Amino acid sequence: MLEIQHLSCGYGAFEAVHGLSLTLRPGSITGLIGANGAGKSTTLMCVAGHVARSAGTVRFAGEDIAALPPEQRVRRGIAISPEGRRLFKDLSVEDNLRVGGLIQPASRFRQDRDYVLALFPRLEERLHSLAGNLSGGEQQMLAIGRALMTRPKLIMIDELSLGLMPKVIDLCYSALKQLRADGMSILLVEQNTHRVLGVADDVCVLESGRTVWQGRAEDARNDAALTAAYLGLHD
Ligand code: ATP
Repeated sequence: MLEIQHLSCGYGAFEAVHGLSLTLRPGSITGLIGANGAGKSTTLMCVAGHVARSAGTVRFAGEDIAALPPEQRVRRGIAISPEGRRLFKDLSVEDNLRVGGLIQPASRFRQDRDYVLALFPRLEERLHSLAGNLSGGEQQMLAIGRALMTRPKLIMIDELSLGLMPKVIDLCYSALKQLRADGMSILLVEQNTHRVLGVADDVCVLESGRTVWQGRAEDARNDAALTAAYLGLHD
């Protein structure tokens, strides 16, 4: 689905990711783990086309997308729920979803909105509230929902559980499982390694902009050295 090879990218002269390689299988959840500043968000933003690549290849569904502008990547089926969520806080929940769906024909809006509301029933109750008035958990659901309005094949979610209550995190993780069951691929950046290891099929561990481990989540859980070095358990 997504194949990244030897990717380097960053901000101006500053290179944040150095030669990262990552393969994401169709219909799977891949967890991208690493300490603060390891380059996780930068990787997601580079795949989405918002951060410039200096080397390497990014292939999506067999196509080299590395030179495509962000909008074309969205049209190919790549969506991002970015760090900080970046909602339109002065717009209602419904209008945030509408903006997310602008890339689709207007006739699809209702069906796609209803898909999101079935996934996150909490949003239905808040449909006409301003996004800025939502709780942190509701905002996270809306950020994911807005990304889903593009009808992605791959959704990349940055810091899913950051600052959220355990019950809300449960709801979000249930939604991820539903998306996977619906055939979507998910690239998940998550500080909470315990959570991500519980749901992911595959895991990629970054350190200082480099991949230090990639494989099945099950193998990661059973790797004592890896667990001790990189997967410090915090819930
Ligand atoms: P975090 O969980 O703290 O967001 P991360 O693994 O997602 O960590 P990135 O946000 O990708 O890490 O940051 C990687 C490096 O790039 C860090 O050294 C960070 O300071 C730097 N960086 C991130 N955003 C920018 C930016 N807009 N301009 C310049 N440097 C940046």
